[in-house]
Parts: sequence; structure tokens; C-alpha cells
Amino acid sequence: MSADPTTPVLELRDARRTFGSGPAAVHALGGVSLTLHAGRSLAVTGRSGSGKSTLLNVLGLLETLTDGQYLVAGQDVRTLGTAAVDALRAHTFGFVFQSFHLVPYLTVAENVELGLTYQRHGSRARRAHIAELLERVGLTHRRSSTVATLSGGEKQRAAVARALVRRPAVLLADEPTGNLDDASAAAVLDLFDGVTADGVALVMVTHDLQTAARADERLTMRDGRALA
Ligand code: ADP
Ligand code: MG
Repeated sequence: MSADPTTPVLELRDARRTFGSGPAAVHALGGVSLTLHAGRSLAVTGRSGSGKSTLLNVLGLLETLTDGQYLVAGQDVRTLGTAAVDALRAHTFGFVFQSFHLVPYLTVAENVELGLTYQRHGSRARRAHIAELLERVGLTHRRSSTVATLSGGEKQRAAVARALVRRPAVLLADEPTGNLDDASAAAVLDLFDGVTADGVALVMVTHDLQTAARADERLTMRDGRALA
């Protein structure tokens, strides 16, 4: 990653993503530009089908562009080979989803550790790092509980810990509070505030305008384009 704080961590220039072709083509992204710097948060809103998840998938290198440019820490991802893109994805991004994507029969600590499976870490350093993350998300007392026994709010906080385990530069969250009650949602958003204060950039899709209002920047999508 670039250490230059003036280089945006993420930059899209006229990003386009089309699914299908001919009369059936869907322009999920019809020319979106954005920049995001370290420690900043961006809320993406817009009705269903407007391109929010496509945008998040493009940013997380889970989806490629049909046209336009995407730069991660100043580097044009088109210039990278598959292995370099895989490495960039693994080291730059943490993902949080509405439906948690945790393994229900494993413990909280095991789920968090899963994010590190392919990393070379001494087991002591690994345990200390996981303990620190669980402390941070307020789940130390639940570390040995299986995920299936957690509340929705606890599951999402476990998912945030797992997303942070590789110390990503960017956290990408698709409706992270969509399945939570107000108090649990507020706890997750407070957690995100701490994460951005540590210099991590956050992109969060939400349909909740109050949640969007907490972000540093907002982008409203309509038919694959950003409303001014
Ligand atoms: P949102 O997250 O805002 O609901 P999406 O990004 O999921 O919107 O979808 C935007 C548009 O692109 C929709 O019309 C959707 O049907 C279409 N789309 C998304 N992914 C695919 C895909 N893999 N294949 C075909 N069409 C897709
Ligand atoms: Mg979506």
C-alpha cells in the first residue's frame, strides 16, 4: 500500500459495469467516479437494483469493470495480473455482509481466526491479535461460544472482528445493520467510527438515511449512476 496520505486509497474514474449484451444489457454501473482517502467513510444509498452491490463488489475486486479505471492506493488494477489482484484483495479489503457469513458451528474466536488461515503468523502473535480484536468488538466474554448461540448484534460484531483480522486498509460493508435492532446497529456503527479513527477507509451500503448521515461522505445511486 502507498504510504502517501495524499493518494486516495480508492479511486474510480467513470467506472462502468455492464451485465449481458444487446437489448438485454444491464448497465449496473453507468459511469461512477469517486475518491476515498484513508480514515474516511462513505455511505452508499439508493433503491434496490440501483447498482450498490455492484459498486461494492467492484471496489472489493470481486467484480471487474467493463470500462473506466479503478485505482487502489494509486495503482491501476488493470495493470495487475490475477495473482497480484488476489493478493491486493486479500491484503487491502475486509468484508462485512448483512447476513454475517459466519460459520455457525465454530466459536467466535475460530471464526475470527479463519480470516488468517493462509497467513504466516506465530500462534502466540495470532492469539494475541485475535484477543485484541475480540476485546475491541466487545466479545471477549463470548470468545468460546459457538456463533449459532449469539444474538444478531453479536454475530455482526464477530463478523467485523473477522473482517479486521488482516488489518485491511478498507472495510466494505453491504447493509451491515440491515438485520439488526436499533441498539445493535448503533453498536456496530460505533465500532466503525473507531475503525475509521484508526485510519481505515469505510464504504458502507445502507438504505437507512440516519446511518448514511453518520458517514463523512455520501453517494446516492440511481440506475447505475451517482446522483449529484
Ligand atoms: P443493488 O445492490 O443496488 O440492489 P445491484 O448492484 O445488485 O443493485 O444490481 C444492479 C443491477 O445489475 C440490477 O439490475 C441487477 O439485476 C443487475 N445485476 C447485478 N449483478 C448481476 C449479474 N451478476 N448478472 C446480471 N445482472 C446483474
Ligand atoms: Mg444490493
